[in-house]
Amino acid sequence: MKLKPLKQWICDTCGGIIEKPEDGWWEYIHHIKGNLIDGFHIVHYGNMRDCYYNEQALRKENKSVGSMHLDHMLTSSGYGHMLHWLELSQQVQGKTKDHFDMQDYINIMRRLYLPYWEEARLYWERAFKDGFHDACCFSENDLVRIIKEYENNNDI
Ligand SMILES: [Zn+2]
Repeated sequence: MKLKPLKQWICDTCGGIIEKPEDGWWEYIHHIKGNLIDGFHIVHYGNMRDCYYNEQALRKENKSVGSMHLDHMLTSSGYGHMLHWLELSQQVQGKTKDHFDMQDYINIMRRLYLPYWEEARLYWERAFKDGFHDACCFSENDLVRIIKEYENNNDI
């Protein structure tokens, strides 16, 4: 296995490994028109900001960027915040308040809080097509099994 579960991630921008939570940065995009929140991602934290969203370019498209230290998002406080945010989003459905791209939201929740998901997700679709899982098994054992089966298979 390449990644320590819930300690290391793959940067969504450069594809490199984020070695520890303190080296990570969490961001999302707020579409001011349409009140949509999507584009949740995990990238390298750093002064160079190379892996961050380009806030200036996005501002021209009437979008803003929200962000937080990755290590904070991993705490129970971060988890509670994400659930509260979801609750608010559900309460205002159909009105003009912020709402999520739900698939984006689910993807980031899995990446932040499900052990082994960050690596298993690389092989998830392929393993499903191969009949290796039924798309609803997220136990650590199941995810480790998928990683071990596919990690040395370069034919992806
Ligand atoms: Zn990066």
